[in-house]
Amino acid sequence: MTLLELDDLSVTYRIASGEVPAVRGVSLKLESGAALGVAGESGSGKSTLAMALLRLLPRDARVGGRILLDGEDILTMKWGRMRAVRWAEASIVFQGAQHGLNPVQKIGDQIAEPLLVHNLAKPDQAGKRVAELLEQVGLPAWRARSYPHELSGGQRQRVMIAMALACSPRLIIADEPTTALDVMVQAQVLTLIKELIAERNISLIMISHDLSVLADVCGQLAVMYAGRVVEHGPSREVFHEAKHPYTRALAAAFPTVGDPVSRLAPKGLGGDPPDPMDLPTGCTFHPRCPVALEECATLDVGLWPAGDSRTAACVHVRAKEEAS
Ligand code: ADP
Ligand code: MG
Repeated sequence: MTLLELDDLSVTYRIASGEVPAVRGVSLKLESGAALGVAGESGSGKSTLAMALLRLLPRDARVGGRILLDGEDILTMKWGRMRAVRWAEASIVFQGAQHGLNPVQKIGDQIAEPLLVHNLAKPDQAGKRVAELLEQVGLPAWRARSYPHELSGGQRQRVMIAMALACSPRLIIADEPTTALDVMVQAQVLTLIKELIAERNISLIMISHDLSVLADVCGQLAVMYAGRVVEHGPSREVFHEAKHPYTRALAAAFPTVGDPVSRLAPKGLGGDPPDPMDLPTGCTFHPRCPVALEECATLDVGLWPAGDSRTAACVHVRAKEEAS
């Protein structure tokens, strides 16, 4: 059963100097209980996509297309309904837990808040539920009385995960949940996320620039470049036999899970990702592409079938498809 369907989703920020097309026509599906990884370098539109899913974008963002959660379009929901969906049906874990927690409020009170707001616990029972949630993310119950600064980065990220789990949502969106953590802690938090979604049949959208992390946790992988999906398919296959030259560069950049050295710039890929306000013509990747043809400067081929339940947006993929 399909839980979430993005249909031609686009997000454009309107700023003083013009328009920033951050997400451009993304269509993706997520089955109930499945995990989808969204990869791409910084600036490719991943966080914009994540925020659009729960309508957390700033007011200057214009959103087009449809976001169907169980067939209901999030973009046209009334605010009351939207508030009910947040936390209770879908919740989000942000990059760098520091920003997600209130520094002057005790951990336990912060975890209890969504429970109380959604009437899922009476004030006198919330403490018990908070203790359970802390235990589920591997923290002792007494941590409820701590303030965020008394916790390590990994512990804070566990608290964020406890908050996301609090109202038993069916979908969790995790935006670079381990990027700010060191390698050992990153591996522990990834294991925790994997166990939790498997045990509870929660669907997951996990965002990272690190393809190896996503391939480890998610069954499906979508690779974004300049606001578009350029490759999509089963994650092991996408990771090990990428069809798009950009995916190949990302896979080569992150050969092992959480390698801190290769975190920043993909190896073997010169240049920077394009500025959305000044996108290259044709295939937006062509100026950096090692296998670009002359026509790539003017031709954007879009996604083509690239094997069993796979697609890729590359002229070489199209050529193979047309030859077969
Ligand atoms: P990622 O998460 O993949 O790094 P983002 O979604 O954060 O990418 O950003 C995509 C593009 O949108 C970038 O070019 C970024 O500068 C731009 N952008 C993000 N937020 C805003 C905003 N509030 N106003 C204008 N531009 C933005
Ligand atoms: Mg981001």
